Amino acid sequence: METQKIRKVVIAGGGTAGWITAAALSRLLGPLLEVTLVESDDIGTVGVGEATIPTHRTFHHLMGIDERDFMRATKATFKLGIAFENWGGVGDRYIHSFGQVGKPSWMGEFYHIWMRARERGIGEHLDAYCLELQAAEAERFYTSEKSGLNFAYHLDASLYARFLRSFSEKKGVKRVEGLIEQVEQDGETGFLTALKLKSGERIEGDFFIDCTGFRGLLIEQTLKTGYEDWTNWLPTDSALAVQTKSVGPAIPYTRAIAHHAGWQWRIPLQHRVGNGLVFCSENMTPDEAHAYLMSHVEGEALTEPRLIRYKTGRRKKVWNRNCVALGLSSGFVEPLESTSIHLIQVGATRLVQQFPFAGVTEAQANHYNAQADRELEKIRDFIVLHYKLTERDDSDFWRARRDMEIPESLAQRIALFRDGGLVYQASDDLFRVDSWLQVMMGQRLAPARYHHMGHLMTDEQLKTALGGLQAGIARAVSQMPSHQEFIDRYCAAPETV
Ligand code: FAD
Repeated sequence: METQKIRKVVIAGGGTAGWITAAALSRLLGPLLEVTLVESDDIGTVGVGEATIPTHRTFHHLMGIDERDFMRATKATFKLGIAFENWGGVGDRYIHSFGQVGKPSWMGEFYHIWMRARERGIGEHLDAYCLELQAAEAERFYTSEKSGLNFAYHLDASLYARFLRSFSEKKGVKRVEGLIEQVEQDGETGFLTALKLKSGERIEGDFFIDCTGFRGLLIEQTLKTGYEDWTNWLPTDSALAVQTKSVGPAIPYTRAIAHHAGWQWRIPLQHRVGNGLVFCSENMTPDEAHAYLMSHVEGEALTEPRLIRYKTGRRKKVWNRNCVALGLSSGFVEPLESTSIHLIQVGATRLVQQFPFAGVTEAQANHYNAQADRELEKIRDFIVLHYKLTERDDSDFWRARRDMEIPESLAQRIALFRDGGLVYQASDDLFRVDSWLQVMMGQRLAPARYHHMGHLMTDEQLKTALGGLQAGIARAVSQMPSHQEFIDRYCAAPETV
């Protein structure tokens, strides 16, 4: 019988990353592990990270989390996509929705048919053929067992950590409050052995998860793993975050509004709106950012604006010796497509699948790292796409983005669409064909050619097919309640009713 060498798992940090990991380990591996989480109330958490993508629901299913309980506890709203404003050019607007555009066939995507139809003067804007996008525009929402809408959530980050804490503690996770002052290592192997707290308490472990945020207390300050810098592609390095009072009903999408040196987010929750200005410190000072942000929010400020500094890139290895970094300690590609919480969930569930009960092997760590690397590179390319495909010429920031060199993998994707009208989702791609398509078209990249499958249809057949699709979507949307009405009756948080 193989003996279990790794039983005591210590999680350093209790932000979204720490508590997601604690929840996953305790819910899925339960009695096989003893999990302790250390967090410091004095340091607190980064306090942002409030928009998610649809995979969040998959994670919650795995955890057995009830949607309404979660939404009430975190004052969450529904998210059908992101509205990008001023990205391709000043005044432009498009929605990257979570929906499917039209109906694809085995031969190819719907947009090839749509392009043929448009050439023949038939049909509407591509947006008319996407249910989620139309529901978002109409600010309507509905979900049930039978509903086919694909959606994610906006949530209150602090309340989410609290919700997961209570979930994890019920499953046996031990929480220790205190400041980690020292990380102890084995003199020979360099493996981590214990966390020493300011109080004098020593927490020993067989395996450690670094969830200490940008500090990377274990993975970097102790293990000196190294960081790969991606600021040449993603140069924003600062964010100023502020919460404001809601001034109207919550809309079912995030807003990402570009400005001359970055962009601004607006995330509607049940009780307030999360706002932030992402900017590049070479092109904007914190004082300018403060003035800009405060003149571009709606509703009274509920908090003092808080400056967060970061460097885009990734840790050279997220698994080093007996330590795995999850969350901001593992890297950060900026929050434009709300992918960080997803990456934590995937990293934590992959750790569950590959948990080194019998001891860490190099092959295992290498395998985990290779998967994490590929995953993040794909997401990086998708985010860089938004910056590269711009025709903005109104500031140094945007001119530099338009003219920058991009990763070869992304250059190939752009060329494939521009020259041949082809979009694809590789097996390890997070973003689907519809996502690539909506962003590329939304940012003014029109393909020069398309597949001639549409030529197989007569004008009458094109009219019938497109008209039928559009009418079906319009009918479905008109039958949905408003997003706010749906929240009020489905999952209103007690204090917001
Ligand atoms: P933190 O929240 O910083 O938590 C670190 C924890 O470590 C804290 O509990 C702290 O107390 C503890 N700690 C640190 N040092 C010590 C010590 N010495 N002793 C004891 N405890 C210690 N992600 C999304 O998915 N969607 C978004 O919309 C999104 N928006 C973002 C916007 C911005 C501007 C930024 C910067 C990030 C955004 N993210 C977003 C990312 C998201 O915020 C993070 O992935 C998520 O919050 C996880 O953070 P964390 O838990 O790794 O770090």
